[in-house]
Amino acid sequence: MTKGNINVSVENIFPLIKKFLYSDHEIFLRELISNATDATLKLKHLTSIGEAKVEYGNPKIEVQVNKDEKTIRIIDQGIGMTAEEVEKYINQVAFSGAEEFLEKYKDSAKDSGIIGHFGLGFYSAFMVAEKVEILTKSYREGSTAVRWTCDGSPQFTLEEADKTDRGTEIILHIAEDSTEFLEESKIRELLLKYNKFMPVPIKFGTKTHTLPLPEDAPEGTVAETEEIDNIINNPDPAWTIAPSDLTSEDYIKFYHELYPMQFEEPLFNIHLNVDYPFNLTGILFFPKLGNNLNIEKDKIQLYQNQVFVTDEVKGIVPDFLMLLRGVIDSPDIPLNVSRSYLQADGAVKKISSYITKKVADKMASLINENREDFEKKWNDIKIVIEYGMISEEKFYEKSDKFALYPTVDGKYFLWNELTDKIKPTQTDKDGNLIILYASNADEQHSYIQSAKEKGYEVLLLDSPIIPHVIQKLEGSKEKISFVRVDADHVNNLIKKDEPVISKLNDTEKESLKKNVEETINDTKFTVQLEDLDSNDAPFTITQPEFMRRMKDMQATGGGG
Ligand code: ADP
Ligand code: MG
Repeated sequence: MTKGNINVSVENIFPLIKKFLYSDHEIFLRELISNATDATLKLKHLTSIGEAKVEYGNPKIEVQVNKDEKTIRIIDQGIGMTAEEVEKYINQVAFSGAEEFLEKYKDSAKDSGIIGHFGLGFYSAFMVAEKVEILTKSYREGSTAVRWTCDGSPQFTLEEADKTDRGTEIILHIAEDSTEFLEESKIRELLLKYNKFMPVPIKFGTKTHTLPLPEDAPEGTVAETEEIDNIINNPDPAWTIAPSDLTSEDYIKFYHELYPMQFEEPLFNIHLNVDYPFNLTGILFFPKLGNNLNIEKDKIQLYQNQVFVTDEVKGIVPDFLMLLRGVIDSPDIPLNVSRSYLQADGAVKKISSYITKKVADKMASLINENREDFEKKWNDIKIVIEYGMISEEKFYEKSDKFALYPTVDGKYFLWNELTDKIKPTQTDKDGNLIILYASNADEQHSYIQSAKEKGYEVLLLDSPIIPHVIQKLEGSKEKISFVRVDADHVNNLIKKDEPVISKLNDTEKESLKKNVEETINDTKFTVQLEDLDSNDAPFTITQPEFMRRMKDMQATGGGG
């Protein structure tokens, strides 16, 4: 038996680990299962290239909780460690074995999915355990098993042990202040949170499986049952599969797997897949949003090689895409670093602009493939697209290809279609295109009628951020102006084909106008009587466009 000091410069790192990571104690399980997964995938790789002369078989990782013993065990059938390797990889805290492994097998290991390090690693076990044992046996022929024990001080012991099968068993003796982790329900919750899509099957207890009855079984036969492993994860989630091998049902099935409490189906999915200049896979879903600007639950989840990291993706995906759902998996996103660092990180910026571009391209291809379907879904996805248009320049630049402008009559125009259509009738004397729109078809009914009678197209733009979209369009397109149908200058701005002759003479008009104005008694409004005859309304009361916009902007929280 060897005794020695763990090679760290600080007197006792364990209180430090505990304090430093206070809020995140639960990640110990993620770290230990990641190590077990790494060890398993390393063995898979070594057997596949002929380096390891053992049977790979169908290895799994098992998690056991023993409340009486106050232990949690994580057992794998991976490469295991020799005594020298324990010395090297465990005792020299700062040394990352994964790094060395990857360095050595750099080229061949690239596609093997070996997880690499999170940076917290094995020692996160001491956030919840007062004593940790490692019982391990290397895959190498003739190696002896060893037991490493450490009680949270820098001293450890290392001795020979009897373990006949290959792999590693980590035994955590749970500390008094962490007994919540001895609850099966807590461990199950953590496994489902962090490990639901990890690449090696994870067993947690057993479950009863009912065998199918033989076809000729007499009526009343009781089906036989058997106890089988309760595997909590799906090692091959949809985002790791090539899009060409997936059907639309597969995507929907995966959506429900990701969000078990979500009963509605997504409208579209976008499969992300890039390996240069960074690695990223994932699937994004467009949920039915309507005019809803926030989704609090069932957010986009971030994974690193199939290990759940977080669903706080602010700074990684552009804000407008946080309205979507789905998964992003990338080994290139730096973890466990501060948000401000993340936002400044080059890789993160590239990822963000890649996703934006990909979503824009997908929208363009969806509308080309099936315009009718896209129009039908527009109302539920418009908020994402409009939000993207006002917040991401690159997205805005592409948006003419897919942003729709619906009319009060249920027609949908792309930008160019709209401007072509209204050019002949809605250009003022200075050559400005006047785009008429309503924000509420019921309230603005009579104005809409009046505009339609003149042959104008009236858009129905009713999302909460539309004032910002209009501002953006007016600021970047040449010679266009949006005017709400009930604005005061609709009549002045639009070129009329023929003058309207009123039945009232000027004196009658003046007195009627005065009368109405006195009744309303509010300078915010203007009374107009000019087109009394061509309109089914007796006269119109309008509010100046600038006043109305100011009010709208205030309602949606200022500029975009
Ligand atoms: P990292 O995973 O980033 O390398 P860890 O602190 O998590 O850092 O683990 C340190 C090293 O200990 C690993 O790189 C690996 O060499 C070794 N190790 C840890 N757990 C296991 C295990 N279950 N099987 C084999 N080796 C392991
Ligand atoms: Mg690790």
